[in-house]
Amino acid sequence: EKIATVSIDPRVEDFLKGEPKKLFIGGEFVESLSGRTFNTINPATGERIASVYEADKEDVNRAVEAAERAFKGSWSKVTPSERGRMLWKLADLIEEHAEALAQLETLDNGKPIREARAVDIPLSIDHFRYYAGWATKIAGEVIDNSVGRNMFTYTRREPVGVVGQIIPWNFPLLMATWKLGAALATGNVVILKSAEQTPLSAIYLAKLIQEAGFPEGVVNIITGYGPTAGAAIVQHPRIRKVAFTGSTEVGKLIMQQAAGNLKRVSLELGGKSPNIIFPDADFSKAIPGALMGIFFNQGQVCCAGSRLFVHKKVFDNVLSDMTSYASKLKQGAGMDESTQIGPLVSEEQFSRVSNYLRKGIEEGANPLTGGQPLEGAGYFIPPTIFADVQDHMTIAKEEIFGPVVAAMPFDDEEQIADVIRRANNSEYGLAAGVWTTDVRKAHKVAHALEAGTVWVNCYNALDAAVPFGGYKQSGFGREMGSYALELYTQVKSIWMNLD
Ligand code: NAD
Repeated sequence: EKIATVSIDPRVEDFLKGEPKKLFIGGEFVESLSGRTFNTINPATGERIASVYEADKEDVNRAVEAAERAFKGSWSKVTPSERGRMLWKLADLIEEHAEALAQLETLDNGKPIREARAVDIPLSIDHFRYYAGWATKIAGEVIDNSVGRNMFTYTRREPVGVVGQIIPWNFPLLMATWKLGAALATGNVVILKSAEQTPLSAIYLAKLIQEAGFPEGVVNIITGYGPTAGAAIVQHPRIRKVAFTGSTEVGKLIMQQAAGNLKRVSLELGGKSPNIIFPDADFSKAIPGALMGIFFNQGQVCCAGSRLFVHKKVFDNVLSDMTSYASKLKQGAGMDESTQIGPLVSEEQFSRVSNYLRKGIEEGANPLTGGQPLEGAGYFIPPTIFADVQDHMTIAKEEIFGPVVAAMPFDDEEQIADVIRRANNSEYGLAAGVWTTDVRKAHKVAHALEAGTVWVNCYNALDAAVPFGGYKQSGFGREMGSYALELYTQVKSIWMNLD
């Protein structure tokens, strides 16, 4: 097939000219106080894209001061309606800069440009529009306990204040958006740290935030590493809440460190989500659904359907169809328009996933397709389908965060207890998929699965109005929908004595 490389958007060229990229603090683009920088790498080639300033504790302190000033000052004078208008304007600006942002995502993260255009950017736009609508609808309640008492009570939903947000590299812009939307709609001020692997789109977004008219200091965006800048956010006593998306391992560290100052915590962590195909499924939907469930974004998705349970009666057919499709997926640089699967985000992620491939084979699993990392430049792992997997194997238990699925047969008939037990036999509980044409079974299984999201006859469906988050060690707190408003508001009860 012909290679059709995307021609670089002039706004991306412009953006990449000014190096090192600066931090966005107090409404200005500034250097880190240490002056230290780091490089961000194009995972399709292993080459440097740009350098960015490396924030550390003293930069976080500076951002907290700017955020506090905004919270007490200019931001407190902005009406909810104006907040909503700014969020809507930001969505419009993202739409206007859609192509530039999509290209930056692809360059920095590696994802196919067609996916950045079709998923990351439109979902980000929708997300800000959705929360723009909430800004004017945050309300307390009147509790009518006045009768015989002469008291009047009501509640207010007040913002938490300065909030810290730490995001991963798999959907750099979209994760920033998920964090910012609800926090800003509810009137908070934010210090957001992007992932060190993918700092660029958040810096570009900072420019649009400025243009949308948010007062200086309302949003501060810093680039830097987890154990330094990230930990400084978690440990800062005047940051009253931290929202984190990333690994379960780091989630635990964050909770421990936040205990020292009793910061509110919400965590969206890893998963090992089961995707269950019953023999009565519509296979014309289930097979592409299972493929998309694991190979979308190179499998670097927290809710990836990485444990595939297929009924014994249909196992061989489903697997052979999946294998023939997966082996034909076009893998290459994300900037090639025809690429369907790109490289992994970093050398580190490439070697982690390569180790899992090796481990899977060592423990006796059989790769029907893929199974070996690709040689040459870039961090490419081919789509891999493992059969002959046992529930206790490493590849069936641990989150791989790559294009690797562990397929396992199950053989219940009407009884669904066994496959549910196996599906739930995980410390994770982020999402699950069910494929069946039997409505009764679909609901029964959906109710029994221990997961924050269950998709029936679909997978990876997301909407700003629908809450998303984990059970068990996949974290707690729900982003999106009205539920995310809970994360960013605190309730005050006010008693008025009418005597
Ligand atoms: P990570 O958890 O290490 O990093 C996520 C974010 O946390 C980054 O911004 C990082 O700088 C920051 N961070 C790291 N250590 C920190 C600390 N001590 N204090 C504060 N912040 C800290 O994730 P990773 O190393 O990029 O990826 C490793 C694994 O995490 C992946 O293989 C995958 O299993 C999982 N992951 C999950 C998601 C998700 O959406 N749930 C996203 C990315 C990665």
